[in-house]
Amino acid sequence: MSATTQIQPFRLFRVRLVGRQRRSRNLVRLTFADPKLADFADNGYDQRIKVVLPQGGGDTLDEFPMGPDWFSVWRSQPTDRRAHIRTYTIVAVRPDTGEIDVDFVDHGATGPGSRFAAESAVGDETIILGPSRSYDGTHGGLEFRRELAGRSRQLIVGDLTALPAIAGIARELPSTATGFISIEVPHAEDARGVRVPSGVHLDWCVTSAGHDQLGTVRQWLAGLGPLDGDQAQTTVIDDGGDDPYWEVTATEQAAAAPPAVSAWVAGESGRVRALRRMLVDDFEIPRAAVCFMGYWREGVAGS
Ligand SMILES: Cc1cc2nc3c(=O)[nH]c(=O)nc-3n(C[C@H](O)[C@H](O)[C@H](O)COP(=O)(O)OP(=O)(O)OC[C@H]3O[C@@H](n4cnc5c(N)ncnc54)[C@H](O)[C@@H]3O)c2cc1C
Repeated sequence: MSATTQIQPFRLFRVRLVGRQRRSRNLVRLTFADPKLADFADNGYDQRIKVVLPQGGGDTLDEFPMGPDWFSVWRSQPTDRRAHIRTYTIVAVRPDTGEIDVDFVDHGATGPGSRFAAESAVGDETIILGPSRSYDGTHGGLEFRRELAGRSRQLIVGDLTALPAIAGIARELPSTATGFISIEVPHAEDARGVRVPSGVHLDWCVTSAGHDQLGTVRQWLAGLGPLDGDQAQTTVIDDGGDDPYWEVTATEQAAAAPPAVSAWVAGESGRVRALRRMLVDDFEIPRAAVCFMGYWREGVAGS
């Protein structure tokens, strides 16, 4: 075995909170800094990361394993005394200043992520698992089918947890892109921060105003006419236990033939399932390019 340590696609960064900004009523932008963040890869789109969050009161961050086998060591620690890990989306990477931004939904003090968003203070430390620039392969952790961005009509649907990812995807769409983006937000004041090309319609579904996201998406799909469903295509369904719903098409299938519509759907698991039923069962949307991703699950804490 080689004596040199192999460079991994993802690495752990110990970071310090240097900025907090309430972006909207329910979204808080946290800026983290460390000189080592010069090695944080900027892949854009919906690049996901993991954030390590302290367990109330203890020194769980200091006991977090930072070695290459960190995950198995962390899993072996007692659940009531180890740090929590939650999934987020990277919003901005500034290698020159060693800074990154992450937008956290503040959904009340019911989970460590949300609590950190609401209560953390500048100077607090945390650990982030993110893609490494030193790695020269494909990092993974990014589901949007960018090779289809200018070839298929885009249908992008999500809630406030998906807003950072949708903003990242919209930023990278070619100016010729066409399609429909629907984002469900709790309040009208959360409806901000996404710019779309002129051929893409942006729809804000405001829960407190009684807007109906499923109905709006159904209306858009109905206006497209027959979609030539390709039932032979298979999707990977990961629907086990308490994990949120996750179904994405294998890349090689998507690349083979550009479908009429390419769908990216993320948010609460039950809602994502309902959208999946509508898109695939009712409208027979081609499954050559679909991503259905439960970002969180009502009543179930993430892990
Ligand atoms: C790929 C991916 C990317 C993601 N990106 C982001 C992101 O950029 N920003 C972001 O804020 N979230 C993002 N999420 C969602 C986030 O991981 C979950 O919301 C997570 O559960 C938050 O952890 P927590 O500690 O706040 O709550 P948890 O401890 O996981 O849950 C505690 C309770 O809060 C409820 N809950 C969790 N999230 C919400 C919510 N949003 N609204 C209302 N109730 C909730 C749970 O059902 C549970 O009852 C992403 C998830 C995935 C899989």
